[in-house]
Amino acid sequence: MMLDYHIHTWRCCHASGEMREYLAEAEKKGLAEIGFADHFPLGMLGVDLDEPVSMQPDELDEYIADVHALQKSASIPVRLGVEVDYLPGQEELTAQLLQQYPFDYVIGSIHFVKDWDFTHPDYIKRYEWADIDKLYEEYFAEVCRMAKSGLFDIVGHLDVVKKFSFFPRKSWDHLVEETCRILKEADICVELNSSGWRAPVREAYPGEAFLAQCQDIGIPVTMGSDAHRPKEVGCGLRRAALILDKIGFTEVASFAGGKRTMRPLELTVEPNISL
Ligand SMILES: [Zn+2]
Ligand SMILES: [Zn+2]
Repeated sequence: MMLDYHIHTWRCCHASGEMREYLAEAEKKGLAEIGFADHFPLGMLGVDLDEPVSMQPDELDEYIADVHALQKSASIPVRLGVEVDYLPGQEELTAQLLQQYPFDYVIGSIHFVKDWDFTHPDYIKRYEWADIDKLYEEYFAEVCRMAKSGLFDIVGHLDVVKKFSFFPRKSWDHLVEETCRILKEADICVELNSSGWRAPVREAYPGEAFLAQCQDIGIPVTMGSDAHRPKEVGCGLRRAALILDKIGFTEVASFAGGKRTMRPLELTVEPNISL
């Protein structure tokens, strides 16, 4: 089945469009199921940024109410998800907060290494003087720590550290291997996030070789466009499904009430709409 579990809303301050427009786009493109996963308020996790990149704490209840309201008018299942920054040392606070809300699934993502939002184009200059080998090591160490925390259902945009096409001088195969081993042990799901095709790196997160290792050791996958505009809903997901099929995946993970159910991977979508 074709689903899109990574959809943002205007509340994160860097996305646009009404939630019903995102849903309308999904229905038009023939997606079987979608889930909103807006950025969980960083303010609730003790991070205050000059320019907000997440929902504000007082917007969270309204976000949840809006998803619930949309579920009633939708012709396809609409899940209540959320994308949460994994912040080392804040595991207990994160757990306490997450248990208070009825999320169908929680995507755990890493956008920061120390104080650097390395996924943000405004800070791209730092790549020029950063030790990229070390950055990759630190990034994947945090992914592993995040998986082990047990707080999340899905790893968001795994390998997003390559977003601006800065790669280590040495091979990073060992990081991929070690990460896959830890993810498998943690029984966490990986999303195939198609937004990498729209980023400078022009490659999905994670890349094909990474996905092949996931398949090899039995890590479940789900799919997301990381839409920040209604038009981006479903974007790249047909291509993503074809890659999954080629690699040998036959199922994708869906979530309801925190419970993971594997569903058959289907390649059928509206033939006249390019996804
Ligand atoms: Zn975002
Ligand atoms: Zn993200």
